[in-house]
Amino acid sequence: MPDGRPRVVIVGAGFGGIEAARALARAPVDVTIIDRQNHHCFQPLLYQVATAALSPADVAWPIRRILRRQKNATVLMAEVNGIDTARRVVRTDSVEVAYDDLVLATGAAHSYFGHDEWAEAAPGLKRIEDGTRIRRRILIAFERAEITADEAARRRLLTFVIVGAGATGVEMAGAIAEVARETLPMDFRHIDPRTARIVLIEAGPRIMPALPEKLSEYVQATLARKGVEVMTGTRVTNCDLHGVDLEHGRIDASTIIWAAGVVASPAASWLGAAHDRAGRVQVVPELSVAGHPEIFAIGDTAAAAGPDGRPVPGIAPAAKQMGRYVGRLIAARAAGAKPPPPFRYRHGGDLATVGHGAAVVKLGRLELTGFLGWLFWSVVHIYFLVEVRERFVIAFRWLWDYVTYQRGARLITEVRRDDPR
Ligand SMILES: Cc1cc2nc3c(=O)[nH]c(=O)nc-3n(C[C@H](O)[C@H](O)[C@H](O)COP(=O)(O)OP(=O)(O)OC[C@H]3O[C@@H](n4cnc5c(N)ncnc54)[C@H](O)[C@@H]3O)c2cc1C
Repeated sequence: MPDGRPRVVIVGAGFGGIEAARALARAPVDVTIIDRQNHHCFQPLLYQVATAALSPADVAWPIRRILRRQKNATVLMAEVNGIDTARRVVRTDSVEVAYDDLVLATGAAHSYFGHDEWAEAAPGLKRIEDGTRIRRRILIAFERAEITADEAARRRLLTFVIVGAGATGVEMAGAIAEVARETLPMDFRHIDPRTARIVLIEAGPRIMPALPEKLSEYVQATLARKGVEVMTGTRVTNCDLHGVDLEHGRIDASTIIWAAGVVASPAASWLGAAHDRAGRVQVVPELSVAGHPEIFAIGDTAAAAGPDGRPVPGIAPAAKQMGRYVGRLIAARAAGAKPPPPFRYRHGGDLATVGHGAAVVKLGRLELTGFLGWLFWSVVHIYFLVEVRERFVIAFRWLWDYVTYQRGARLITEVRRDDPR
């Protein structure tokens, strides 16, 4: 604390990190927010980038721009690779950054359950570059299918497999089905995109297990109407560039999307701290690490208990609530004020869209499906977008797409070795 103001370092400018920084805007502290990317990504709409409905710049914003008015905040683009808790410095790929208070908000990554070699064949969706990579693969699969004279190859190119039927898997499957059945049919001459096979594979007994059974049945029926094959109770045993092996049989497919598992960032290993099975840092009710009241972990990288004793879920509102709480706690300490009571998570609800005019919403006792659910889902997502400009742009684009079924971002900007062929 050289000039008397505590130095607060926040690692990660996702939902949790940005919220923590904002909660410190009026506090007598100097905030440094470090991220390996220069932008904050609105992950809930990433699947729309992957399916060409939105462009990357619609769902990601420069961190500097978000915090431009916050005079006590400095943004650094650097990759953190360790923490020296004794010297109180964060190590990055370029500089060391000293802290008095440290907030770790580094999120999560895909988990291939010990089979990282599947990643090349089955990319997951987490960052902007994942969205554009999956978009490229989907669009190239249709292009190659138009060219090939080999019927087996055409079938493989027109088969899309999504592994994991949580909200992301369901949203991807519904959107790919709409691309094939509604957007593309008039654009090709040698293939009928409507014949594309879209398979959603889930190891558990039902899709979207976080929802009540009735709502997950609604989602499954809606997907079936859109032409998605749902396979529950089915375990994937291998993924390669030409398909997936199942416990019983194989599906030849040129496009595989991984939406099955997540693992926390390596924050726990940087600290040598206790963690749960998903690698999330165990935190005390103030969201700090046991024995380190100056180090906090929030969002997807933290294992915190909710009021019912169950873990706080890895969703954006939870990360934001934790970020806000930690920001207020640090601000109170810096001002010598009474700190807030221990963190208490409030679950707002669960929502997911199944595509055009169909979504499920569960807010306490309120359950919405169909068009009403979709309208609610759209309004909520637009409300939570960071920039006002994007709210208008996306609202208009969704309205346009709703009427025309068009997808404006169907660009292939490069072709790579591992693309469908
Ligand atoms: C495809 C997808 C769809 C989703 N849909 C929904 C939804 O509909 N509703 C919902 O509520 N939630 C949804 N989620 C979950 C939600 O996005 C996360 O719970 C939320 O982003 C967690 O926030 P966070 O701040 O913990 O981490 P993140 O938002 O992931 O941010 C982590 C930040 O840390 C940075 N970082 C990571 N490692 C380092 C490092 N070593 N050095 C520097 N910076 C680093 C990253 O670049 C990133 O900016 C979705 C997630 C995904 C992937």
